[in-house]
Amino acid sequence: MDSKTVRAKHKEFMLPAVGNYYQEPIVPHEGHGARVTDLDGKTYLDFFGGILTVSVGHNNERVNQAVIQQVNRLSHMSTLYPMVPMVELAEKLVKLAPGKLKKAFFTASGTEADETAVNLAQVHTGALEVVALRYGYHGRSMLAQSLTAHSNYRSVPTQIAGIKHAMAPYCYRCPLKLDPKSCGTACARDIEELIRTTTTGHIAGMIAEPIQGVGGFITPPKEYFEIAAEIIRKYGGVMIIDEVQTGFGRTGKMWGSQQYNVEPDIMTGAKGIANGYPLAMTLCTTEIGDSFKASSIFTFGGNPVSCAAASAVLDEIAEKKLVENAAHRGEELRGGLEALQRKYPKTIGDVRGMGLMQALELVEDETVKNRTPNPKATGALFEETKKRNLLIGKGGLYGNTIRIAPPLNITKPEVDEALKILDESFAAMGVG
Ligand code: PMP
Repeated sequence: MDSKTVRAKHKEFMLPAVGNYYQEPIVPHEGHGARVTDLDGKTYLDFFGGILTVSVGHNNERVNQAVIQQVNRLSHMSTLYPMVPMVELAEKLVKLAPGKLKKAFFTASGTEADETAVNLAQVHTGALEVVALRYGYHGRSMLAQSLTAHSNYRSVPTQIAGIKHAMAPYCYRCPLKLDPKSCGTACARDIEELIRTTTTGHIAGMIAEPIQGVGGFITPPKEYFEIAAEIIRKYGGVMIIDEVQTGFGRTGKMWGSQQYNVEPDIMTGAKGIANGYPLAMTLCTTEIGDSFKASSIFTFGGNPVSCAAASAVLDEIAEKKLVENAAHRGEELRGGLEALQRKYPKTIGDVRGMGLMQALELVEDETVKNRTPNPKATGALFEETKKRNLLIGKGGLYGNTIRIAPPLNITKPEVDEALKILDESFAAMGVG
C-alpha cells in the first residue's frame, strides 16, 4: 500500500474526529532510536515520540526482546490470575514511587488510570466532589472528559457532576492578570474559596498534572503544589498526581511531583511506561487501596506483554541513566530554545517546561500587550519542520504551542540538529 492510499483509506474509514498532523499527513512505517521513516522512504528526527510515549527510542532492543520472549510464552490471562510480569512490574514501580505509594492497579490507558484514581479517592474519602484544573487533560471517557478543561475535547455538554475546575497556574496568561514575581501564587490560594463556595466543603481530592501536557506544557510555579495540597487535605481530600506525561524521567526527575514539594496519595502514569505498548498504572497508599471493597476486574489489566515491555523500559532507564540524560539534554534543549526566542522575540512569546518536555508558545506579536495566540504560525512551523525532516508536537487551548519531547535517550548531536532545523524553519517563515 502506498502513502496516498493509506491517507485515502484513513479518510474513508476512520472517524473524522481522529485528526492528523500536517496538510499532507506522513505515514510512519519504521522507527529506530529517535528516527522514523515514512512509507515514502523519508526519514525524520522524532521530537514528539508518539506523544511522549516512545520513552526509550523506537525499536528499542531491550524492549523488543522482552516483548518477543513474552509473546512466545503467554500473551493474556486477565487479572484473574497473578502472573510474573505483573508482580515484577508492580514491585519495581512501588520501589521507585515517591512517598507511601505501595499498591498498584494496571489498566490500558491514561484515561482508565485517572478514572481509577478518582474512584479510589471517592471510595476512600466517602466524598464525591473533585477539584481539577482548567487547561488540564485527563482522557476521553465521560469522567475524564469532565475532568478535562478544554472545550474542544468535550463531546457533549452534560458533564459528570461534582467536578470543579480551579484556575490554571498559567503564568504566561495569568488568570488573575498578576505578575508571577509578586503574585504570591494567588491561583493556588484561590482553591480554598473554590471549595468553600462551589462544593459541599467535603471533597474527595484534587487531580492535577505536574506540567499540563495537552494544555501546552503549562508549568506551575515551584510552590504551587505545596499550597494546593495543604488546602485539599484541609478539606478532607487526597492529592492525585497525573504523571501520564511527566512520569518516568521525562522532566529530568523520575516523577514530575519530585520537581515540586508534594507527595501524592494517588499517582497515575501511562504513555512512557511501556514505550508504546498499551499500559497504564494507578498507584496508591495501602490505606487508600484497602478502602476499595467492591470487586474489581480489568480484562487487559496487567497484560503480561505490556508489563514485560514496561519492566524493560524501567531497566533501560536505570541502566542507561536516562533520567540524568533527560536533565542534561533538557538543559541543552532549553538553552537552544531560549536562544531562538532571542532571535525571534516577536513570535516566540514563552519558552517553558522541564527536562525533555519543552514548549514554545507562539504569538502574533509579543510586544503587544494581549499576546494574541498565533495558531497560524504553529501550522507554518509544522510544514517547515516537516520539509526539513523534524517531527514536533502541538498543544494548548489555542493550538499555538509547540510541544517538544524527544525520547529520553536522545543525544546532544540530535538536540543540536533539531534546534538547527527549528531555527531554519522560523527563518523560512520570515517571522521576527
Ligand atoms: N492524562 C494526561 C496528562 C494525558 O496527557 C493523557 C493523554 N494525552 C491522558 C491522561 C489520557 O491518556 P490516554 O490517551 O492514554 O487515555
